[in-house]
Amino acid sequence: MIFPMADTQKKLNIGWFTFTCCEDSTIMLTEMLNDNFFTWKKLLNFKHFNVLKSKNDMSDLDVAFVEGAIASEHDKEKLLKIRENAKYLVAIGSCAVTGLPSGHRNSFDDKLKAEIAPYLLQYHQNEKVYALHELVKVDDSVPGCPMVEAEFLKVVDKYLKLFKIIP
Ligand code: SF4
Repeated sequence: MIFPMADTQKKLNIGWFTFTCCEDSTIMLTEMLNDNFFTWKKLLNFKHFNVLKSKNDMSDLDVAFVEGAIASEHDKEKLLKIRENAKYLVAIGSCAVTGLPSGHRNSFDDKLKAEIAPYLLQYHQNEKVYALHELVKVDDSVPGCPMVEAEFLKVVDKYLKLFKIIP
């Protein structure tokens, strides 16, 4: 994907958030900066991206990109807050889209569930792990484990056009 030069200072306000997962899509995004940094700098305002920034702001987002599954009440509350603060929410990678593989414990038999119960209690984890769409409205999904880069670029392009950042 080639972004044309923007002839306006307007940028897409985005946030990147990570919940329960191995964070591979975050690593991919960071790698993608090698090729896209100077183009994205003109078009995207990374308001929340705590892998790269120490000061983050999750208010007034145009698009929130969310990777990982939701495994605790704390994370559920945070996801609801992100949804409230974002015009659009995009699920990133299989864990966010389907809940798996991070939600493997959902399919444990009763014996295994009993074995892990004390740990869930100790670490304030829910018995069930949720895909994002089970808790909030998801506007778009980027599948893959980790995310498919080409699909992510398509989604970014879609929202840049929707917000008239690029023609
Ligand atoms: S979808 Fe795959 S790569 Fe992404 S966080 Fe989950 S397990 Fe890791």
